[in-house]
Amino acid sequence: MPYNIVVLAKQVPDTKAVTGKAMKDDGTVNRQALPAIFNPDDLYALEMALAIKDSYGGSVTVLTMGPPQAAELLRQALYRGVDRVALVTDRRAAASDTLATSYILSCAVKTAAPYDIVVCGRQAIDGDTAQVGPQLAEKLDLPQITYVEAVEEIRNGKITVRRNTDHGLETVAGPLPLLMTVTDKAPDPRYPSMKRVMHYKKAMTASAAAAQSLPTPPTEFLIEEWNLDKISADPQRAGMSGSPTAVKRIQAIVLTGSEYKEIKPTQEGIDSLVHELIEDHTIG
Ligand SMILES: Cc1cc2nc3c(=O)[nH]c(=O)nc-3n(C[C@H](O)[C@H](O)[C@H](O)COP(=O)(O)OP(=O)(O)OC[C@H]3O[C@@H](n4cnc5c(N)ncnc54)[C@H](O)[C@@H]3O)c2cc1C
Repeated sequence: MPYNIVVLAKQVPDTKAVTGKAMKDDGTVNRQALPAIFNPDDLYALEMALAIKDSYGGSVTVLTMGPPQAAELLRQALYRGVDRVALVTDRRAAASDTLATSYILSCAVKTAAPYDIVVCGRQAIDGDTAQVGPQLAEKLDLPQITYVEAVEEIRNGKITVRRNTDHGLETVAGPLPLLMTVTDKAPDPRYPSMKRVMHYKKAMTASAAAAQSLPTPPTEFLIEEWNLDKISADPQRAGMSGSPTAVKRIQAIVLTGSEYKEIKPTQEGIDSLVHELIEDHTIG
């Protein structure tokens, strides 16, 4: 039986490419100074969705919320095999915390309906809260399974998956429709297909086309652009007005090597280190 799958993916600054210019003087992230990448967990989420489609048929839609540049993430998704993409972009959504983000994304998922499975990454490498997936499940009134590393089977309206927690592996089943969050223990993401790169490299939003004085691309190459009105989202629940959390203080932590201990590479040295770590309750 075919399944309609919606994947949520976020464009994030590449935190592995941090240089001295990564922070502005006011302590906020200088996004211009960092290359933007597909959030790593979301590539695993996308792979899981595409693998379900390969096995059972259906369609994969990718949604992202972000500035116009996030259209690049959607092109990357098209290169890997997705059927439909939409960029949720609206100035009124700027400065959304996780509560507002998950509200806006829930409206976007409803706009992309029908859906049987909603797939998120476990965590974004910039905000790093891992809150958006579970909050989205709550707002969509869907059951959720987090920390998924493999889909075992989908049958009779039920999905069976393997979860990888800190304490071991669990096999869990849940009724569809359902939301799951996926970790990087899942099967490796596929590479973009060269054929699809050539085919979709000029896919863009109508606004990007207008900015280059080009006609609106035909549906196949159109990256849909959704604002808050299009997804019937209440602007009061988006952006600043919908975000009850506030950052009180940002502190730059500089780790200095003022104190160190040399451990001899002998059995005695290792035994003493292990003993010390157990005493400290670091391990054990
Ligand atoms: C207190 C606080 C204040 C903040 N203030 C600001 C601010 O002023 N300006 C600002 O830009 N950001 C701000 N943020 C960050 C912003 O809230 C988060 O980037 C956003 O809500 C997503 O949360 P996250 O990055 O922790 O994602 P996580 O919860 O770690 O992401 C989990 C998964 O949810 C999905 N997901 C998350 N975000 C998106 C998205 N945008 N589109 C599609 N899928 C997504 C992905 O599948 C991802 O793997 C703030 C965050 C906090 C906690």
